Amino acid sequence: MTVMVDLKGVHKSFGPLEVLKGVDLEVKAGTVTVILGPSGSGKSTLLRSINHLEKVDRGLVRIDGELIGYRRRGNKLHELREREILHQRSQVGFVFQNFNLFGHLTALQNVVEAPVSAQRRKRKDVEPEARALLERVGVGDKADVYPRQLSGGQQQRVAIARALALRPKVLLFDEPTSALDPELVGEVLDAILELARDGSTMVVVTHEIGFAREIADTVVFIDGGVIVESGPPYDVLDNPTHERTRAFISKVL
Ligand code: ADP
Ligand code: MG
Repeated sequence: MTVMVDLKGVHKSFGPLEVLKGVDLEVKAGTVTVILGPSGSGKSTLLRSINHLEKVDRGLVRIDGELIGYRRRGNKLHELREREILHQRSQVGFVFQNFNLFGHLTALQNVVEAPVSAQRRKRKDVEPEARALLERVGVGDKADVYPRQLSGGQQQRVAIARALALRPKVLLFDEPTSALDPELVGEVLDAILELARDGSTMVVVTHEIGFAREIADTVVFIDGGVIVESGPPYDVLDNPTHERTRAFISKVL
């Protein structure tokens, strides 16, 4: 199986604070990896490192074999130009906790925007695809509505359609349901589950353990900037070997 996301020895600090302390992570194509861990353990930083929203201090990130953020010349690495980084980033779909939709654009325009601006595709080609994506996540009837007229769950589903519009090689979700009222969580998790069943490659940060059990091929538990434990949900969630994993899971269950 192709390794779609490959992190090797990733370190990241913010000033004196070392947040990622040597992370290795492999995500195979068509699989779902769920990342669990306490607040402040480095989950968002890890996700952001995958598409170079955070520049790592040490270590390498590859997506589908391609080095992210750098080009190798001999045995030296040279940082890519902004334009090249933006191109690489457009191969990754990112769904944030707070939806981050453009408020002045309709749902449809939100979905159409990135393929047109970042991938230089023609608006008239992207539009039918965008409508189909909105349909797929269950908000097809909201195409011409502005974000403020949508519930949180609908906004997040538009954000998922927007991420998919890039035809990404991998989808990253950073606590996609944490900002939602409880009664809206299910509809968003269902949309994500459906994408997983269709074979999308995903990395999902979530505290929803039941959802993790259902969707994950691999569960990764991170604490203090290191991967403490990883494996199939049956092992990590139901029979964790590390005390820290056990303590965390008993708290969030
Ligand atoms: P998590 O997503 O697991 O809650 P984060 O990756 O967001 O954790 O953050 C890990 C640590 O790094 C936290 O202590 C956070 O305050 C710190 N941090 C994250 N981003 C920055 C930043 N841009 N500047 C300084 N500190 C940061
Ligand atoms: Mg976070």
